[in-house]
Amino acid sequence: MIVMKFGGTSVADAPAIERVAEIVRSRSAEDPIVVVSALARVTDQLLAAGQAAAAGDRDQALESSRALRQRHHRTASELLSGHHFSRLQPALESNFDLLQELLTRIAALQELSSRNTDCLLSFGELLSSEMVSAVLAARGLGCERVDARECIITDASHTRAALLFNETRARLQARLRPLLERRAIPVMGGFIGSTVDGTPTTIGRGGSDYSASIVGAALDAARIEIWTDVPGMMTTDPNLCPEARLIQEISFEEAAELASFGAKVLHPATLLPAIEKNIPVCVLNSRDPAGAGTCIRTHAPRSRDPVRAIAAKRHTTIVNVAGERAWIPRGFLREVLAVFDRHNCQVDIVASSQVSISLAVESDSAAPELVTDLERFAQVSCEPRQAIVSVVGENLRGRQGIAARVFSSVSSAGVNVRMISQGASEINISFVIQEEDVPAAVRHLHSDLFADAQAEDGRRWLPSAVRRRQPAPEHLARSGAEEG
Ligand code: ADP
Ligand code: ASP
Ligand code: MG
Repeated sequence: MIVMKFGGTSVADAPAIERVAEIVRSRSAEDPIVVVSALARVTDQLLAAGQAAAAGDRDQALESSRALRQRHHRTASELLSGHHFSRLQPALESNFDLLQELLTRIAALQELSSRNTDCLLSFGELLSSEMVSAVLAARGLGCERVDARECIITDASHTRAALLFNETRARLQARLRPLLERRAIPVMGGFIGSTVDGTPTTIGRGGSDYSASIVGAALDAARIEIWTDVPGMMTTDPNLCPEARLIQEISFEEAAELASFGAKVLHPATLLPAIEKNIPVCVLNSRDPAGAGTCIRTHAPRSRDPVRAIAAKRHTTIVNVAGERAWIPRGFLREVLAVFDRHNCQVDIVASSQVSISLAVESDSAAPELVTDLERFAQVSCEPRQAIVSVVGENLRGRQGIAARVFSSVSSAGVNVRMISQGASEINISFVIQEEDVPAAVRHLHSDLFADAQAEDGRRWLPSAVRRRQPAPEHLARSGAEEG
């Protein structure tokens, strides 16, 4: 059995969903379980509708809901006809009626609680899973839609709910095993779950990857496939740096580090369940299903380059906390970290001096209440619009000179480095720069650290079928064990 997760762009419209059906068919002998995200941009649009309703603009909220209804209907009508379409119709209608009711309620309350946010956002994946399962069925793939809220069980920390794995595993096994036994393909939405008493929750933005991995671990899948809009995990974000190239094999440790430090292609929690059960995770391109993609597993051959990849995490704020006198009193760091902990604010990088501590955190989590709490015993200043850039790779372990190369490259790009962290993980050097400097820093680093990036340019973005017809020059040909 394998798990196949399709992200928002992979189910964005009718042609994309048609491709999904073909990809699933190509794996049907391996007993797939399909996990889908909401159609591209739908989660953002639902959130915007909720915010409009809470701000008192009920008309705007209902207009957004109407536009979403039309888009789903149009997509369904392009994919399905006759009884297949009329069977799906009531499911779409009843979800949109409930969505409209919820938006009307939010507008009346003029408040969007985190509990209602989860309820609102869950419609994206409820609708996409209805649609994809109807299309798979119409294409002759025996499948059954599964309501993820009945299987993925979490605590009640809405919008970033924590998984209750034992309960989830029991529910997934009870619900999915009978389907697999009769060779039906379960189709469920990612990202959403519910508390034990059935209140909808979500597991964090981009969380469908994590859902797929949870399902894989609960049912001991042979493989977890993450189907997305890029050729695989790459040496950096290809939308930031067109020279980025595909990484064919990467270790769990390196990939997890990249995901935590901004490589959006994988939700940061995705690899935890897979590592625990030692299940390989493949990242594949739904526009180029024959492409090699990336295989993430326990061990991978070392990169021939000094580092494996570069990640950038925007939306970072530096919180500077100084003691009230000219030095840091004993226990100060513990007290500061306790405040961040209380506000559920994860600290990515810490640097301390004799007089102050600087902490780099996700901007959304540096809430005014957190600052107020710190100000009870310290002087606080915040620097928003920062970013963390990380270079990651097993080669960093014990090899000298790489840090010097990294910082001379960044400095030659004219970029000022604000905080540095090396050593917390032996395979990562991270530093904080201004958000606007990210493209320059990443492109400079990429061309300095990946020496033959330029030479391979031009072959990278071609679909695999075309690429295969263009043999690599001798000096660039690599064994299958190395990066592509
Ligand atoms: P999906 O909708 O399929 O979940 P996402 O948008 O969440 O897709 O993730 C894919 C995006 O991740 C790519 O379009 C790319 O811009 C970004 N990305 C960031 N870092 C990397 C990387 N190292 N390799 C590949 N893609 C990356
Ligand atoms: N639809 C959700 C989001 O946009 C989950 C996902 O796409 O993984 O965050
Ligand atoms: Mg994603």
